[in-house]
Amino acid sequence: MELRVDFNRPITVGNEFEYMRQAIENMHISGDGPFTKKCHALFEQELGVPKVLLTTSCTHALEMSAILLDIQPGDEVIIPDFTFVSTVNAFVLRGATPRFIDVRPDTLNLDESKLEAAIMPRTKAILPVHYAGVGCEMDSIMEIAGHRNIAVVEDNAHGLFGKYKGKLLGTFGSMASQSFHETKNFTSGEGGALLINDQNLIERAEIIREKGTNRSRFFRGQVDKYTWVDIGSSYLPSDMLAAFLFAQLEQREKIQLHRKQVWKTYATGLKDWAAAHDVRLPYIPDHCEQAYHMFYMLLPTLELRQKLISYLRERGIYSVFHYLPLHLSDMGQKFGGREGDCPVTECISDQLIRLPFHNALTSSEQEIVIEAIREFPF
Ligand SMILES: *Cc1c(COP(=O)(O)O)cnc(C)c1O
Repeated sequence: MELRVDFNRPITVGNEFEYMRQAIENMHISGDGPFTKKCHALFEQELGVPKVLLTTSCTHALEMSAILLDIQPGDEVIIPDFTFVSTVNAFVLRGATPRFIDVRPDTLNLDESKLEAAIMPRTKAILPVHYAGVGCEMDSIMEIAGHRNIAVVEDNAHGLFGKYKGKLLGTFGSMASQSFHETKNFTSGEGGALLINDQNLIERAEIIREKGTNRSRFFRGQVDKYTWVDIGSSYLPSDMLAAFLFAQLEQREKIQLHRKQVWKTYATGLKDWAAAHDVRLPYIPDHCEQAYHMFYMLLPTLELRQKLISYLRERGIYSVFHYLPLHLSDMGQKFGGREGDCPVTECISDQLIRLPFHNALTSSEQEIVIEAIREFPF
């Protein structure tokens, strides 16, 4: 069967080509050029975050956060079991021991009721991941972390412009990471950002991002030569990528409106079918404004999930599953992960299917998907 509906299709939405041409004509195609500055300013203004730094990926933004928190071998970090490997890898790279906790069965976000029991004397950070762009229970998380002086770093790869109780995701923790990978709402192919809410971390963040040098201060005229002052790496994206990203960000309202429409079309079109077949659709708490990152469903069993994916594939429709439980991965088992540790993640990881969802998805494509699902022989 020929392809009829892609799972993801990265597209240009505005001035991407024009801005990339400008970046080349500016003759500033390395990092921190005019388009990077435009992206920083836009984010700082729209999100009300004191400092935003573009990075080469969300993974790298997370690595920067681990360095900024001075994570040392033997320190512990608390991570939801149901997330992408980068959330944990960035900290394990610094020598941290991850402690995986299970997710809530309703939002699939870190289960805040399991936090207290997971906190150890050397726990240095908690990493909430706003799965599918729906906020974690940030009130409880911030309170538990605050009492014990544990840092909170939000992995907000899915959650840009989403809100929890009226407050933007990414503005709760001392830091948050964003992703502009081609599968995310806004993209530059590869890319990311570190949002820094704690003012005390800003100066060192600039140094770490610039290979451990005080180059940013030098360019601002604050020191008369720049030199090696700390550990660091090269976390700046090319200004050509920032130009692409800026064009996407300019269209943020249009993109988010389209994604909202796509999400609602699935939710409405599949509601009765789901109820009739014991299929669970996403749950969005009333106090959360989601970021419309994806549309998932939970099938009753692994067998049915696999059957539905291949059934759709035969009709030219590409759907996919998502994260495997981290504690059962090869690396997770080296940190002591055993079957049964995180029962909710073990269960929903088998049941979850993600439907085609991207900025170019048309209503007729969605109609094809919804019709096919309704005709799925259970
Ligand atoms: C996509 C994603 C990442 C990694 O993003 P990159 O920009 O590819 O490094 C990290 N965490 C989550 C939750 C993601 O979805």
